[in-house]
Amino acid sequence: MNQIAVTLPDGSVRQVPAGTRVLDVAESISPRLASAALAGLVDGKLVDLAFPLKHDASVKIVTEKNPEALTLYRHSTAHLLAAAVTNLFPGVQCGIGPATDEGFFYDFVVPRPFVPEDLETIEQKMRELAGQDLIYERQMWPREEAKKFFAARGEPLKVQLIEEKTEGQSEVSCYTIKDKDTFIDFCVGPHVPSTGKLKAFKLLTTSNAYWKGDARNQPMQRVYGTAFFSDKELKAHLTQIEEAKKRDHRKLGRELGLFTFHQWAPGAAFWLDKGTTLYNTLANYMRSVLFPAGYVEVKTPLIFNKALWETSGHWSHYRQNMFIIDSGTLGEGEEMAVKAMNCPGHMLVFGSEVRSYRDLPLRLHEQTPLHRNEASGVLSGLTRVRQFSQDDAHCFVMQEQITFEVERLLGLVQRVYNDFGLPYEAKLATRPPEFLGEIATWDSAEAQLKVALENAGQAYTVNEGDGAFYGPKIDFDVTDAIGRKWQCATIQLDYQMPQRFGLKYTGADNAEHMPVVIHRAIFGSFERFIAILIEHYAGAFPLWLAPIQATVLPIADRHLEYARSVRDSLKAAGLRVDLDERQEKIGYKIREAQLQKIPYMLVVGDREAAEGTVSVRTRTGGDQGPKSVNEFVALAQQEIERKH
Ligand SMILES: [Zn+2]
Ligand SMILES: [Zn+2]
Repeated sequence: MNQIAVTLPDGSVRQVPAGTRVLDVAESISPRLASAALAGLVDGKLVDLAFPLKHDASVKIVTEKNPEALTLYRHSTAHLLAAAVTNLFPGVQCGIGPATDEGFFYDFVVPRPFVPEDLETIEQKMRELAGQDLIYERQMWPREEAKKFFAARGEPLKVQLIEEKTEGQSEVSCYTIKDKDTFIDFCVGPHVPSTGKLKAFKLLTTSNAYWKGDARNQPMQRVYGTAFFSDKELKAHLTQIEEAKKRDHRKLGRELGLFTFHQWAPGAAFWLDKGTTLYNTLANYMRSVLFPAGYVEVKTPLIFNKALWETSGHWSHYRQNMFIIDSGTLGEGEEMAVKAMNCPGHMLVFGSEVRSYRDLPLRLHEQTPLHRNEASGVLSGLTRVRQFSQDDAHCFVMQEQITFEVERLLGLVQRVYNDFGLPYEAKLATRPPEFLGEIATWDSAEAQLKVALENAGQAYTVNEGDGAFYGPKIDFDVTDAIGRKWQCATIQLDYQMPQRFGLKYTGADNAEHMPVVIHRAIFGSFERFIAILIEHYAGAFPLWLAPIQATVLPIADRHLEYARSVRDSLKAAGLRVDLDERQEKIGYKIREAQLQKIPYMLVVGDREAAEGTVSVRTRTGGDQGPKSVNEFVALAQQEIERKH
C-alpha cells in the first residue's frame, strides 16, 4: 500500500498508509488524545475522525480545547435533538438545524406546536440516545437515490435542500446516528464520532419559525437549545440567561419609567422624563469628551433630495432600508428620503468651504436622529429600532494623519469605556475580497491602523478580509457585567465617499489633494448603548447617570416643610432630586425608592429637622447615618465626578 506523509502541528512528519483515518493518527500520538478527539483539521479543513487520509497532508487533532470544536459539538447536538424528535413524533419533518453563537436550534414541521412538557420528553430522549453512545456516520448517497429516499419518507424540504445545494454533484453527503432508521440527515458535517461525546446540553425554548425564515413559507416550530463541554459551563450559561431576563432593558425600561413604545410609531421610542434625562446626560457626556479633543458639533438636515443619496451610493445599495417620501406630494426632481446616516451630509459640510491642510483634521460630530426602515418583525426594544441617534463623527484627515488620528481615537474609546466599567477588545478588519480602490492604498491604510494600535498599546485581533468594501476598520466589543459581548465602537477608514463627493483640500505644496474620511462612533447608537447600560447596571445606574440621584423621604407631614427646603438646596447644588410627599409609612417609601433604584434616600424626621441634617441610606440598604446637607452635596458631587 502506498505511504503518505502526515505533518503534525509540532512539525514532525509521520509516514502512514494511504487510507489511514484521522482517528488512527490521534491514536498513534497518544490514546489519551484519541479519546479526547472530536474531529480533525486536515490541511486546515475540519473533518470527521473517520476521515481517511488519501495523500500527504497536515493533520491536527481537534479536541474541546480548540476554537473550532464548540460549533461542531453544538451542530452534533442539534442532530441529536432531531433524532430524538423524529423518534418520539413519527411523521415530523425536519428543516435545518445549525449551531449558533449561543447554542443550536432545529426547525420542524409538526402537527401541533410543542409545549414545555414536550421539551422535557425530548431532552430525556436525547440523554437516552447520548447514553447509548451511537455512532455518527457519514454516508455518500447517489444524489437521485437520496432525493427518492427523502421523498418517500415524506421529507420534501430535505429534497428541496438537496436540489438547491448540490446541483451538478453525483453524490450527496448524509449523516446517520446509529443507522438510517434511527436518524438520517442531509448534511455536510463534520460531526463528533458518537453521541456519547455530547454531555452538557439543555433545551431552552420553542418559537414559531418559517421555512427559510420567510413568513410566506411553511410554518415551523423551532426548538432552541444550548450545549457546552462541561456541566459547569452550561450552568454558568443558564445562570447568565436567567440574569439577562431579570435585566432585560424592555422590562426595566418600563419599571423605571425610562421609555415606552406605541404601535403607531413602531421602532421609535417615546423617551419619558427619566429616560430623557439619562439620554441627555449621555449626550452631554459625549460632548464633554469630544469637544476638548477638537471636535465641533453640527446639525444637518433630516430630509435630503435623492440626488445626495445617489451621489453617496446609498440610493442604489441602501434604498430599501430608507424611508422615501411619497413622490406624489413632491414636484419633479424633488424625490426625497429621510436621513439614514450622517456621512453624506458631512461631505456637503466639508465641501461647503475651501479647505486647506491647516484645517485638517476636521472633526464633525452630530447627534441628530436617523431613520432606517427595519422590517417590523425584527424590531425589539431599544436594540433594533427605526429611529435612533448616534454619537457619530467624521474626521477628515490627510493620508499621513491616519495613524495620529486613530491613535487619538483609541485613547477616547478607552476613556469612555473605562467610565462605564466596560472591558473591551479591538478587532482589525482588513481588505475584503470585493473592494474598491488600489491595493497599495489599502496596504498603507492597514499598516497605519496597526501602527496606531501598537502605539496606543491596544491589544487586537485581526479579522482578515472582514473590512468594509471602502476601507479597513477597527471594531470594538464591550463585555457587560454578566459576560455578554456587544459590538459598539467602530473606526472605519473611507477613501470612496470623499471621491464620490469630489472633496479636496489645498496641501502645503499648494496642490489639490483628497482627504480621507474616518467614520467613527463610540457608543454606536444612543438607543442601543442605553439598552446595554440598563442591562449592564441592571437598572441601578451609578450616581452620575441616575435620572433621580436622591429622594427626600419625610417621616411625617410635619417634616414636609423641612423636606422641601432640603430638596431645594440639593436642586440648587445641581443634583437631580425627588421628594416623596405621600402620606405613606417611611418603610414603604424606602422600599419604593429601592425598587426605583434611586442611589440615595434622605430620610428626614424630628431630629434631622432640628439639626439641619439628613439620614442617608443607599439603595442597597446601607445606612450611612446623619449628614449635614452640605456634607451630602459634597460627597455626591465627588461621586459624580469619579463616575464609579
Ligand atoms: Zn447537520
Ligand atoms: Zn459615517
